[in-house]
Amino acid sequence: MFLDPHQPIATCAQSSCEGCPLHEVLHCHFGGKDLARFLAFVAPAFILGGIGIYHLGIWFLVAWIVGFLSYFGFTEIRVLCSHCPHYAEEGSSLKCWANYGSPKLWRYRPGPMSSVEKAIFLLGLILIFGYPLPFFLVASNWILALVYSAAVAGAYTLMRKTMCSQCMNFACPLNLVDEARRAEFLKRNPQIAEAWKQE
Ligand code: SF4
Ligand code: SF4
Repeated sequence: MFLDPHQPIATCAQSSCEGCPLHEVLHCHFGGKDLARFLAFVAPAFILGGIGIYHLGIWFLVAWIVGFLSYFGFTEIRVLCSHCPHYAEEGSSLKCWANYGSPKLWRYRPGPMSSVEKAIFLLGLILIFGYPLPFFLVASNWILALVYSAAVAGAYTLMRKTMCSQCMNFACPLNLVDEARRAEFLKRNPQIAEAWKQE
């Protein structure tokens, strides 16, 4: 279901993860605990948003779910995940802490995201998580609007703190890994270092 946490990832030129200083400070491998934590972060916002939309009609909710699945299952995979080292692993779908199971329809593209890709990625997030707000306002459901906004802000903050700060996808505009750890990772992943140099 997940990668062997003791074996280097596909892009890594090391023969073993044993003794690697990045093992504890960068997320090269993902497990069920990471996936469960991610789902726990986003589930409250998704459930609250769904309740608010459903009050005004099931088809609005269906439209949100379709948009949600299209964005996180396809669009985000193309613009963001296809740049991630995890995308280079074997198999036809992702097995990471977020987007688990999303199909890998495109080739792996190490190196930075273009400005257009960044814009699509960020705009998509705003549209998906902003979509429920007008429904709360039309229904004058201020309390739900407040709780939903708090759930989105909470999920964002927790993810920034626990995931973006250790994520090996340096192409992402939300990545928080510092230069020293980036340099250590690129030293061990020459194909990625080369792609960044060329860009
Ligand atoms: S950089 Fe390579 S050796 Fe180090 S933890 Fe990641 S996969 Fe393992
Ligand atoms: S960018 Fe995040 S969600 Fe996408 S493949 Fe990498 S770890 Fe998974």
